[in-house]
Amino acid sequence: MVLAQLGGSISRALQQMGNATVIDEKVLNECLNEITRALLQSDVQFKLVRDMQTNIKKIVNLDDLAAGHNKRRIIQQAIFNELCSILDPGKPSFVPKKGKPSVIMFVGLQGSGKTTTCTKYAFHYQKKGWKPALVCADTFRAGAFDQLKQNATKAKIPFYGSYMESDPVKIAVEGVDRFKQENCDLIIVDTSGRHKQEASLFEEMRQVSEATKPDLVIFVMDSSIGQAAFDQAQAFKQSVSVGAVIITKMDGHAKGGGALSAVAATKSPVIFIGTGEHMDEFEVFDVKPFVSRLLGMGDWSGFMDKIHEVVPMDQQPELLQKLSEGHFTLRIMYEQFQNILKMGPIGQVFSMLPGFSSELMPKGREKESQAKIKRYMTMMDSMTNEELDSSNPKIMNDSRIMRIARGAGRPLRDVMEMLEEYKRLAKIWGKMKGLKVPKKGQMSAL
Ligand code: GDP
Repeated sequence: MVLAQLGGSISRALQQMGNATVIDEKVLNECLNEITRALLQSDVQFKLVRDMQTNIKKIVNLDDLAAGHNKRRIIQQAIFNELCSILDPGKPSFVPKKGKPSVIMFVGLQGSGKTTTCTKYAFHYQKKGWKPALVCADTFRAGAFDQLKQNATKAKIPFYGSYMESDPVKIAVEGVDRFKQENCDLIIVDTSGRHKQEASLFEEMRQVSEATKPDLVIFVMDSSIGQAAFDQAQAFKQSVSVGAVIITKMDGHAKGGGALSAVAATKSPVIFIGTGEHMDEFEVFDVKPFVSRLLGMGDWSGFMDKIHEVVPMDQQPELLQKLSEGHFTLRIMYEQFQNILKMGPIGQVFSMLPGFSSELMPKGREKESQAKIKRYMTMMDSMTNEELDSSNPKIMNDSRIMRIARGAGRPLRDVMEMLEEYKRLAKIWGKMKGLKVPKKGQMSAL
C-alpha cells in the first residue's frame, strides 16, 4: 500500500530536521512543510493537513526542543497523536450484540466494493458464531442480486432478494422481516450504488433507511478515490446517519490518505479495511497500530504481544535487548523466522514487523514466502556459530558462501539472496537502535 511511502517521507523529514544543529522556528516549519507535502500527496484533505500543522505547532514547544530533548521523538510523537486523533472519532454509533437482532445497512458508490464487503462483514461475524443474513436491496444494478447470491452461497450465509421486484424498499423490508423471524442476529442490507452522487441514490437510501430502521449505517469507500473522499463521505453522511466506515482496496495502489478524510467528514470511525478480493481479506481496523505502521514505526504493540505469546519467557528479555541494541545478527533472523513460522498466519505477523512485510512476503503469496523462509533456514543450518553471531556482513566471503551452498545443497545465488535479505533487514532494524522496547500490552509509538 502506498501509505508506506508516506511513512518514509515523514521519517526523512524528521531525520533532516534532527540533523540540524539548532532547531528554530524556520527548521521546524521546513520539517512541517515537508510533512504537509507528503500528506497531501497521500490524498489527505487539504484542510485536515493544515489543521494538523497548526495543532502540531501548538503542541511542540521550541524551548523544549532547544533544551536538548530528543527533537525527532517529540515531533514524531506529536504527529502520531495528531493522526490518531483524526482517525479516532470514538466508537461507532452502534455496536451489534451477539444473539440480539441488529439491522446493518451498507451504503456507498457503485464499484466501491460494497457488495463484496457485505459478505466479508457477514463472514467475519459468522466465524465468531453469529447468525448473519444478507438482503440485496440493490435493484438498480443488473447482476447485483446474482453477485450477492453467489458470495452468500459460498459462505453458507442465508440471503434474500428478487429478480422481479424493482422496489428496493419493499425487498429490504421483506428481507429484514423474514430474517428477524428466523432469529438472525446480524441482518445486513446491501443498497444500490450509482456511478456518482446522484440525488436519486440518496433519496432511495433515505427511503430504505426509514423503512428498515437500521441500527447502524456503514459507509463503504474505495481507498483509491483520492481527494474526492471528503466530499463523497460528507454527501453520504448528510443523507443517512452514517455511523461507521469501511475502507476497501487497501491492498492496491491507493494512497489511502482518503481514509483520514472519510473519518473527518463522517465523524465516524473506520471499523474494518478490505485488503483483497477474497472473503477473508478483511481486517479489523485499529487506529494506533495503523498509524504506527503508517509512520514506518512498525506495530510494536501487536508485535510485542506476539513475542510475549510465542517466545519462551526466559528468552524474551535477551531477544528484546538485542533488538533494541540494533544487533541484528543472522542468528536473530533465524530465531525470528522460527518464531514467525510458529506464530500462525504469517501475513498478520509479518505486517507488524518493520521491514518484513512487503518485500519478503508479498501479499497473497504467503505459501511461497513460507517456503522461502524454510529455504533460508536450511541454508543457515549450514553456517558456523561465528557466522550466525556476527553482525558484520563482510565476514561472509566467497569461500564461506560456497561452503554454505554445498552444505545446504542449494545454488550459490540462493545463499546470496538470503544474505541480501539479511542485509536489508539488518539495515532497517539497525535504525531501531536505542529504541525503548515497550512491555507487554503497552503501546509505544517510538
Ligand atoms: P459494489 O458495486 O460497491 O457493490 O462493488 P463490488 O462489491 O461489486 O466490488 C467491485 C470490485 O472491487 C470487485 O471486482 C471486487 O472484487 C473488488 N473489491 C472489493 N473489495 C476489494 C478489496 O478490498 N480489495 C480489492 N483488491 N478488490 C476489492
